[in-house]
Amino acid sequence: MNHNDLIDTNSTYCPCGSAVDYAQCCQPFHLNQAVADTPERLMRSRYSAFVLKQFHYLIVTHHADHLQGLTEKQLAQFKTQWLGLEVLSSTQCAEKGEVIFKAWFIEDKKIDAIYERSSFIKQDGHWFYTSGTQMHNRLPGRNDACICHSGKKFKQCCAKLMS
Ligand SMILES: [Zn+2]
Ligand SMILES: [Zn+2]
Repeated sequence: MNHNDLIDTNSTYCPCGSAVDYAQCCQPFHLNQAVADTPERLMRSRYSAFVLKQFHYLIVTHHADHLQGLTEKQLAQFKTQWLGLEVLSSTQCAEKGEVIFKAWFIEDKKIDAIYERSSFIKQDGHWFYTSGTQMHNRLPGRNDACICHSGKKFKQCCAKLMS
C-alpha cells in the first residue's frame, strides 16, 4: 500500500498537522512573507519545510552558529517519507524557547519518529532553531489516533504501511 492512497488529495491542509490550509499556515513563512512569532510556529514551519522540501528555509531558520556545515544539498539527500507531526509541549521565555515534538516517518516499512526536545533562540526579531536532544520513541497503540492526523485509528491507517 502506498502512503499516497491514504492522503485525501482534495485536502490543502498544512503538513504540520494544524488542520489549517497551507496558505494560511506555514506557506507565508516559507515564502518569506511572514515571520514565525513563536518557537512552536517556527518548529511547525520547519517540519512542513522538510515535508515540502523547502531546504533553503531549513537552512535560514537554523541558527548559523549551530549549522555545523549543514547544507541544502545534504538535506536534499534524505529520502525520508514523513507521516505527521505531534507537538507535545512548547515553552518560551523572553528570547529562548523549547519545543518537544515527534516527527513521524516511515523507512523500509518501519514507522518511527524523531522524538526531540528542540531549542530555539530569538535574534533581531526572528526565532532560530539551535539544537535538539533526541529521546527514545515508542509507537502508538493500535487503537490510538493515527500519527498522520487522519482521524482514523493507527491500526486502520498508517500501521497498514508496515505490512
Ligand atoms: Zn503549518
Ligand atoms: Zn495515518
